[in-house]
Amino acid sequence: MTGLPADSGVTAETGLPARTGLTVCAPLRVEARALRRGLQRGAGSDADAGQVRVLRTGYGPRRSEAAAASIAASAPSMLAVAGVGGALTSDLQVGDVVVASQVTGDGGTVGCAAAPLLAGELRRAGLRVTTGPIATVDHLVRPGQHARLAADGAIAVDMESRQLVAGAAGGPAVVLRAISDTSDHAVVNPRIVTGGLAALRSLRQVAPVLERLAAAVGPRQVLLAGPRSFCAGVERAIEIVELALEQHGAPVYVRKQIVHNATVVADLERAGAIFVDELGEVPDGAMVVFSAHGVSPEVRQEATRRSLSTIDATCPLVAKVHAEARRYAADGYLVALIGHAGHEEVEGTMGEAPGAMALVQTADDVAGLRPSDPDKVAFLMQTTLAADEASGIVDALTERFPAVTGPGSDDICYATTNRQRAVRAIAADADLVLVAGSANSSNSKRLVETAERAGTRAYLVDGPEDIQLGWLAGASTIGLAAGASAPPAIVGQIVSALGGLGEVQTREVVVATETVQFGLPKELRQRTTDVPGPAVSTQ
Ligand code: SF4
Repeated sequence: MTGLPADSGVTAETGLPARTGLTVCAPLRVEARALRRGLQRGAGSDADAGQVRVLRTGYGPRRSEAAAASIAASAPSMLAVAGVGGALTSDLQVGDVVVASQVTGDGGTVGCAAAPLLAGELRRAGLRVTTGPIATVDHLVRPGQHARLAADGAIAVDMESRQLVAGAAGGPAVVLRAISDTSDHAVVNPRIVTGGLAALRSLRQVAPVLERLAAAVGPRQVLLAGPRSFCAGVERAIEIVELALEQHGAPVYVRKQIVHNATVVADLERAGAIFVDELGEVPDGAMVVFSAHGVSPEVRQEATRRSLSTIDATCPLVAKVHAEARRYAADGYLVALIGHAGHEEVEGTMGEAPGAMALVQTADDVAGLRPSDPDKVAFLMQTTLAADEASGIVDALTERFPAVTGPGSDDICYATTNRQRAVRAIAADADLVLVAGSANSSNSKRLVETAERAGTRAYLVDGPEDIQLGWLAGASTIGLAAGASAPPAIVGQIVSALGGLGEVQTREVVVATETVQFGLPKELRQRTTDVPGPAVSTQ
């Protein structure tokens, strides 16, 4: 006895399926059929030994337990459970897909580490997807039982997943359920027919995604760039908002994103920060924090005019560039600011001496400079530029204006430089580089470009949901870096999600150790005794 239904694809002679990239367990015949129809290459037919194999495993916990025992003996590379299920929360609709973060029931809980990767890929395929715990029960859920299961944290329910995941035999597993009935009506209901059809349609859409999942399965090495993630300026800026909320209470307004990272902004919003684009959105008398990227004197003057209470979270290294701009302008120089148009740091620095500054984004822009005295040209840089990109522009400036002058050391900050060196070090040995960071983060985007210039394909991701499974196919060594505004926890989440596709070994590649710390502004220091004062070092 195999414990599997007759059309399971497991022959009675061998008792086991061929070893495959991904073994998909579909409890019901209609579920297995929907998945097989959705597979792009006909994988899943009983004779197919391709990357995806769909097995009908049977209805309910007892058959699932027997099927899992048979499947486990084949040590599948990865196991997926896919079928229809019931919603436990009111926000789920029929046809939605729930990807299990964990499966509970039968006295235990099993985590599904690859859930964010699968959920992200399903969303990109056009499905409505929610991630959360799925509960497995041993009977049809009766009216009134939804609330009890939901109170335990589950968002969907089925009758097989907890038993079936045992078929992974300790290897990676994912579980998904397409919602066929919602929490506001009983399972035995005329609407179950339309709900069931909607769920099966979703399962057909799921199938090609499972093919991409199969191609991404495998053990990997992850090279961790060091240093990565938060720099001293970002840590200080976040701490400033947190302390402002603690000392003054919510709301605290923040002009622009405090740092360019979606997770950081969302966390601070939950704590009571309100992010605005301009001071006009800040009510009279409120407290406002200026972001780490700095502001122009005009913005400071407006805040003073309106008697707003302000705290400046401008990174001291950005403030240093502002001071250089003022000094050169006062000495009669035309200041060429090497940077990217539209970036808040550039806007703030240009605002220090608008009549004496010109933005230079490329070497070609140098030809357009019109200084009144060619011997009085200076240059400054945005702190988050790629060093090699900026040096080409400095060469062009030097060629046209031999007397051009600049800061003693370039303005590209230590954190940017170190992260670019680290990404070059991992790119050399990686099939693919992932950079944790948001799309509006200049220093994170420069890390992607740095890896690409080193000849390795690279992608910017806000978190594991953004990683496309197609990128991972054939990538056995992945470099992982993080921009200066990306929280360290995101790196951990990405490593964990990759571990959901197979064993992951991590190796740190450290090119520099950072000890930089910046002090807090005086407005917060007055009420805080256990924090450092002014900047202690800027290595
Ligand atoms: S990247 Fe550099 S300039 Fe920007 S906040 Fe961090 S330390 Fe400051």
